[in-house]
Amino acid sequence: MSNLERSPQLTISEEPPRLQQPVLEVTSAREVDLGEGTRVRRLLPKRQRSTIGAWCFVDHFGPEDVSAGRGMFVPPHPHIGLQTVTWLLEGEVLHRDTLGNTQLIHPDQLNLMTAGIGIAHAEESPPDHPPMMHGVQLWVALPKRSSSIAPAFDHIPSLPIAETAGARITVIVGELLGERSPAITYSDLMGAEIELRGGSTQLPLRADFEYGLIALSGEGTIEGVTLRVGTLLYLGLGRETFSVNASEPSRLLLLGGEPFGEPLFMWWNFVAHSAEEIERARTDWQEHRRFGDITGFDGAPLEAPPLPPGRLKPRG
Ligand code: MN
Repeated sequence: MSNLERSPQLTISEEPPRLQQPVLEVTSAREVDLGEGTRVRRLLPKRQRSTIGAWCFVDHFGPEDVSAGRGMFVPPHPHIGLQTVTWLLEGEVLHRDTLGNTQLIHPDQLNLMTAGIGIAHAEESPPDHPPMMHGVQLWVALPKRSSSIAPAFDHIPSLPIAETAGARITVIVGELLGERSPAITYSDLMGAEIELRGGSTQLPLRADFEYGLIALSGEGTIEGVTLRVGTLLYLGLGRETFSVNASEPSRLLLLGGEPFGEPLFMWWNFVAHSAEEIERARTDWQEHRRFGDITGFDGAPLEAPPLPPGRLKPRG
């Protein structure tokens, strides 16, 4: 997916060090129009919070009936300094990138694209697509030491599953309940889908990780707080377990990681550690350098929006 806002704001994450303690902080998604009638719930970044571990961007789309239209249509666009994580609950997405990969993704599979120094991709519903589209796309910020790595793309067709008394857990990234995802990451983080059958379940957490939770479908109650679709519950650090109760079958996404601890610049589809990196990436995309070409996509690449006026600089 791409950030298709016409005037994307610069997001600079220079958040103060986290308190080493649990919190319960609920924030609501911002509805963002991606064009072509597609609306998404953007749960990160938010003014109050830019990162959870290295997770720095969360868009939740659907469930949407795309039987009458062409569905997802995101033309070629560039990324630097991040990994994209695509996770579907329903539907199919066809990915094409400048490394020459063409990959169809189905529910319960992981597409992990590592931008590193630079990659471009396009994502669309295939011509004969299922009627419904539902999923998330997340970005993981690369730490400064890994920001210049070569681009890569991995499709992981099946992921480890853990079972508890009340839930079936798919480990998408990192480790949970002794199950480890094969996804390669560059900081200590985790992401898992918790499919609750209804009832309660308890999961072990790492006290040195911060965690956040979103509802993909249904809802869950954590320490008296009800998490619904369109909200993010930030859990803070210092927890060794957490319990969730669901009155109906629900699917939640648990995201966690070591607090990122590095200032980040995020603008359009770029994540970087300086304003200059963002400006150079924008110029290189506009002047057709660095990122390469995508074959087989029927449509023009996205133009980079204008940079916000003034110099990009950290706030504070
Ligand atoms: Mn993208």
